[in-house]
Amino acid sequence: MLEVSRLRKVYGADPQAAPAIEEVSFEVADREFLCILGSSGCGKSTLLKCLSGLIPASSGEIRLNGEPVTGPPEDMAFVFQDYSRSLLPWMTVAGNVSFPLRYKGLSKREAQAATDEALDAVSLAGMHKRFPWQLSGGMQQRVAIARALAYRPKILLMDEPFASLDAQTRSGLEDLLLDIWRRFEVTVLFITHDIDEAVYLADRVLVLEAPAKVGLDVTVPLPRPRDQLTTKALPEFAELRGRLFSAIQGAPVAR
Ligand code: ADP
Ligand code: MG
Repeated sequence: MLEVSRLRKVYGADPQAAPAIEEVSFEVADREFLCILGSSGCGKSTLLKCLSGLIPASSGEIRLNGEPVTGPPEDMAFVFQDYSRSLLPWMTVAGNVSFPLRYKGLSKREAQAATDEALDAVSLAGMHKRFPWQLSGGMQQRVAIARALAYRPKILLMDEPFASLDAQTRSGLEDLLLDIWRRFEVTVLFITHDIDEAVYLADRVLVLEAPAKVGLDVTVPLPRPRDQLTTKALPEFAELRGRLFSAIQGAPVAR
């Protein structure tokens, strides 16, 4: 569904400057849950911004369903780490969720139905009239997820969406996301620096080494549906976690 070939990104005009992304190639299949794992500063956000067409790549190619990506594609939605900056504080929850729908040409009634369904999916039914600042961090991020869902994307790009949340809220949102992924039949590209989160969520994990190049590409052999307690207690979970840890630390690993 998404093909990235030999993507390279150098910020600024100097082509000799150190690249934020050295060279990255990978593919994402339809309905796949792919996690991209890498330490801070290795180029994860840069990669996602290039994939979404928000910033131009320096070279290489990105194709979504065969079409080159040159600007933000119709079928794509994003969720960023910083929900306090991505939600509009002067708009209600419903206003925030329905805001992008005006660019989809939906009637008022259709937009309202999509908003209701999305808020329902993130368990925020009835919160329409609240303002973001009246909600907890976890609830605000659920609003941001609802806004992405209401748009009915085929592919959802998420940049460390749970990194600013406490551990308990975070695991709740991981499970919510898995449920949404299954019900809404979306492809998810999820960026994180958290190994456990990547293994728990993904069908497949890519490890980015700085400056971003793909260091490891592993399939997650864990059964679904997953569960915070039983899945994380499986020996396969521990084994994969160890492998990814070594890869991120730069230790030699069996590829
Ligand atoms: P990550 O999301 O993995 O933490 P980033 O993609 O944000 O990493 O950053 C990768 C590298 O690119 C870093 O060295 C960072 O300083 C640099 N960088 C990020 N954004 C810009 C920018 N707008 N201009 C110049 N350099 C940038
Ligand atoms: Mg980042």
